[in-house]
Amino acid sequence: MTDQGGLIVGAGFTGATAARLLAEAGARDILVIDRRGHIAGNAYDAPNAAGVTVHRYGPHIFHTNSDKVFAFLSRFTAWRPYEHRVEAEIDGRLVPLPFGIPAIEALFPPAEAAALIAALTERYGAEARVPILKLRETDDARLRALADFIYAKVFDGYSRKQWDMATELLAPSVTARVPVIVSRDTRYFTDRHQAMPAAGYSALFAAMLAHPRITVRLNTALEGLDAETRARRTVYTGPLDEWFGSDEGALPYRSLRFVEETRPAFGAQPCGTVNFPNAHPYTRTTEMGWLTGETAGATTLVTEYPQAHMPGETEPFYPVPTDAADALADRYRRRADALAGRVWFAGRLADYRYYNMDQAAARAMTLVEKEILPTL
Ligand SMILES: Cc1cc2nc3c(=O)[nH]c(=O)nc-3n(C[C@H](O)[C@H](O)[C@H](O)COP(=O)(O)OP(=O)(O)OC[C@H]3O[C@@H](n4cnc5c(N)ncnc54)[C@H](O)[C@@H]3O)c2cc1C
Repeated sequence: MTDQGGLIVGAGFTGATAARLLAEAGARDILVIDRRGHIAGNAYDAPNAAGVTVHRYGPHIFHTNSDKVFAFLSRFTAWRPYEHRVEAEIDGRLVPLPFGIPAIEALFPPAEAAALIAALTERYGAEARVPILKLRETDDARLRALADFIYAKVFDGYSRKQWDMATELLAPSVTARVPVIVSRDTRYFTDRHQAMPAAGYSALFAAMLAHPRITVRLNTALEGLDAETRARRTVYTGPLDEWFGSDEGALPYRSLRFVEETRPAFGAQPCGTVNFPNAHPYTRTTEMGWLTGETAGATTLVTEYPQAHMPGETEPFYPVPTDAADALADRYRRRADALAGRVWFAGRLADYRYYNMDQAAARAMTLVEKEILPTL
């Protein structure tokens, strides 16, 4: 990024996108480091012992409404069309999520289901997405009861497992997002672009990072770099608090443990992911072949067990969505902002914000275009 070159800490969506854009803009000698032994950050995929491609840090489904992000990534991969579907086990039955007309019909007696669907359609209109917190405020007692049912059966138990805390303690923005949809559309996402990289995420990243001005060094932590390299202008995509030695306290994260089970033939479950909001200590199981398109031969199911995050031992996956955590993050963010021009913080860990992959790529694009390039 200067005559000494630039440093990018982290080879995930944020770091790799920033590296590519900077290299194409003419920045000299971009060194991308990652303390892990692979590129692609949490989107990394690789075959397991049975030869089945598995997303090593949990199932990653690509979806975006951004034409710009999709066009950019399309330079590095062909796509396989894929619309993700999720079913939840509720009262011993599998029903599609997000919770919509098919779920109501599966779980309520026919007359009651018809009355609920009619009331929802009349009040909110066909195809509406109604946050259950909004539904809880209506003056229609039946709809309030439906909101309570969804909250209890679909959201509350899942959320307690996911976060290991009372749902009421989570920031209202989390609960506000859970919708009932007045629709028969059972796609989990409704974005304009929904597809999976045809040869996988790791191949996409290899293509993105293949540029004469980019060098990638794996198994390399920021902390181990020599002073000269550390003095380069830097895009930092690691954990926000770690940059400051966590001197104001560690930012809380939730982590996950993944358990793989390989069976002889594809088709172990009816869709990509099955959620278990109430039963079992795990939250969901994903059959990888739905996502990757590998449906011949063996199949691998990945089950997710939420667990506490222990720095150095587990992966920091989800920033904990509480007001207290955000307030602590804000204190670090202000210190990070003061370093802009020499160090830019961006990404899911460095911003301490839940980003999907497309949002991480978009964040890196904006950072490079609006903040870094004008300073070169
Ligand atoms: C279980 C799970 C499922 C998900 N599913 C989806 C999904 O279906 N769809 C979707 O769009 N998004 C999904 N995401 C989100 C997606 O993983 C993120 O959007 C994306 O990984 C963010 O990219 P990033 O580059 O900001 O961070 P990361 O991918 O975390 O990359 C940061 C990199 O920085 C490296 N690093 C950190 N500190 C240092 C250091 N000090 N020195 C060197 N290297 C360092 C890390 O090793 C890491 O590789 C999911 C996330 C999780 C956890």
